[in-house]
Amino acid sequence: MKELHYLDSHAHIMAEEYQEDFEEMLKRAEDAHVDRIMIITLSHEETMRALAFARRDPGRYKVAAGIFPEDVKNVSDEDWQVFEKTAADPEVTCIGEIGLDYYWEKDPEIRKLQREYFIRQIELAKKLNKPFLVHSRDAIQDTYDIMKAHHGRGLMHCYSGTKEMAREFVKLGYYIALGGAVTFKNARHSVEVCADIDENYLLSETDCPYMAPVPKRGKRNEPSYIPYIVNKMAEVRGVSEEYMAEVIDRNWTRFLEGKE
Ligand SMILES: [Zn+2]
Repeated sequence: MKELHYLDSHAHIMAEEYQEDFEEMLKRAEDAHVDRIMIITLSHEETMRALAFARRDPGRYKVAAGIFPEDVKNVSDEDWQVFEKTAADPEVTCIGEIGLDYYWEKDPEIRKLQREYFIRQIELAKKLNKPFLVHSRDAIQDTYDIMKAHHGRGLMHCYSGTKEMAREFVKLGYYIALGGAVTFKNARHSVEVCADIDENYLLSETDCPYMAPVPKRGKRNEPSYIPYIVNKMAEVRGVSEEYMAEVIDRNWTRFLEGKE
């Protein structure tokens, strides 16, 4: 049997949830053949810790840094300058997660500020020739409009919109990352999107420590649970898990390298 390689394109493994069993959690991922993990970091301090850690095995661990939509209201000019510098670090592979969150943010002024920082970070990613990872909650139309007007190389993380909208993102060359929701009984959209879109634009992620897939739903999530997600994706698409994992692996390489 061919060796499987799984991908977790969105993992918050520097989070305090893993302090107790960090090494064991990594070992479980390794045993489950989750061979590439994108570490998402949400603060300068977290980015620095992730960079130091990822040097252990740069082929396996990559680091993304971004200003999260919920944090834009606290960013000073100085913070932005520090962020710009960090983003330019060759060991920071992706810019993210960035985007819009209208679910948590109701204030129109702050929402406007979210859009400004989203655009700023997309433009920075483009200048640095790096891909970006997008968080979008209850804001799909604004997200789309910005990603169309400021077109670059990116993915929709934890995509929860309709399949029609997913098709529009794919038309612009954006990738769609699916996570635990695809295994949930009530998540019709995720399953429809998974079944519908061009396989060359599908990616897998955990968004751990949140969003654990069935049968771990409600528990702390971790990268070693990726096979549950890819197994479900394969089932939905009527292909073997081996085939699905291989397609995702190839898509990820293409995404990181920026080839069409
Ligand atoms: Zn995240």
